[in-house]
Amino acid sequence: MGSNTYRCLFRQECVLARQGGAEQAFYRLHEQGTEWPQGHLGGSLGVPCPPPPKVRSFAWRLATNSLATQDNKHKRKMEVTNICIICGVERENTFHTFCRCTMARSLWQAMEEVWPLPDLRGLESDDAEWLLHLLDGKEDMARAMILMTFWRIWHCRNEVIHHKPAPPVESSRGFLCSYMQSLIMIKQFPHADPAKGKTAVIWETIPKKKNTKQGEPRPWRKPPEGSVKLNVDGSFCKEMGVGGAGVVLRDDRGAIIVSKSLSLQPCLSPLEAELEACREGVILALDWSSLPCMIEMDCAEAVNMIRSGELNRSPFTGLIQEIKRLLATRSNLVIGTISREQNSVSHILANLGRTSARTQTWAGSGPDDVTALCRRSECNPLA
Ligand SMILES: [Zn+2]
Repeated sequence: MGSNTYRCLFRQECVLARQGGAEQAFYRLHEQGTEWPQGHLGGSLGVPCPPPPKVRSFAWRLATNSLATQDNKHKRKMEVTNICIICGVERENTFHTFCRCTMARSLWQAMEEVWPLPDLRGLESDDAEWLLHLLDGKEDMARAMILMTFWRIWHCRNEVIHHKPAPPVESSRGFLCSYMQSLIMIKQFPHADPAKGKTAVIWETIPKKKNTKQGEPRPWRKPPEGSVKLNVDGSFCKEMGVGGAGVVLRDDRGAIIVSKSLSLQPCLSPLEAELEACREGVILALDWSSLPCMIEMDCAEAVNMIRSGELNRSPFTGLIQEIKRLLATRSNLVIGTISREQNSVSHILANLGRTSARTQTWAGSGPDDVTALCRRSECNPLA
């Protein structure tokens, strides 16, 4: 398929479906059980690898902006906020979900090592048709790889949204590679004849090049200029029924404004430790800075509870209500999740609080471990 024809075909498909806007088209078509147009995504004969029906169905929903993103649910008044629950950085529309969100980017990067995926950096975030631009002019195989990667991203995103652990990037990559391999085999086996020189194209499940950055922890990121960042973490010991909370507030240069480690006695669960850490952190952040503040923690469950508009019925209702009340006192506080490795400073502080059974605060500093860690580029990437 030539360049710039993809969008035309997509629009024709919509016209053929006798409707105007793609989104309304989707709802009508979806009710009738219609999937992504077969012919346009390599469903025809002679194409090396058509995406399976569930991927085509997903792709159709993505292209017509009919996925239940936070933004779409917010527009339909099903969510109180349109901000991404996973990273908390911005509105979760399809562009954010698949091109910008931390989770999407790590899987895309992992897949780039094994599949010839395009660079996403040139895409315009405010372009409603970003997907069609991305697919334009691509071979069917390349298109299938893009859509299968997005499909998997959506699956991982939903796991987190539904309070399940995020599937590790490595296992997602292995899954996609073997899935693609079996699709190619199924499609090609009846036709492939090694004697004629036509052999199946197999994408490797191991990276083409060893990514040297792979083993290294992902760094903590400084907040945008003129803002501060609060990292909080909880620590819990089941046997002793005690916990700890760690809190660190840093400025836009990565310097510590204040840090605190707390002993929680008693503590009922890891979630309680996380929520206590969040509450303590927000109180500290409100005291120490009036600048816009990003709050980061690595517990998606806690973030979801805090963000949820519904009344919480867990044993921690009071705690959650208090955090919500504190967050509501200022409009420039946003909360989101990050990976554990990006949260190592508050993690150390939480462990210290638990094991030392003491509560301590450091202004402009932290315990030795923490300041050493900050010096070691983890939180002070050299300017
Ligand atoms: Zn996000």
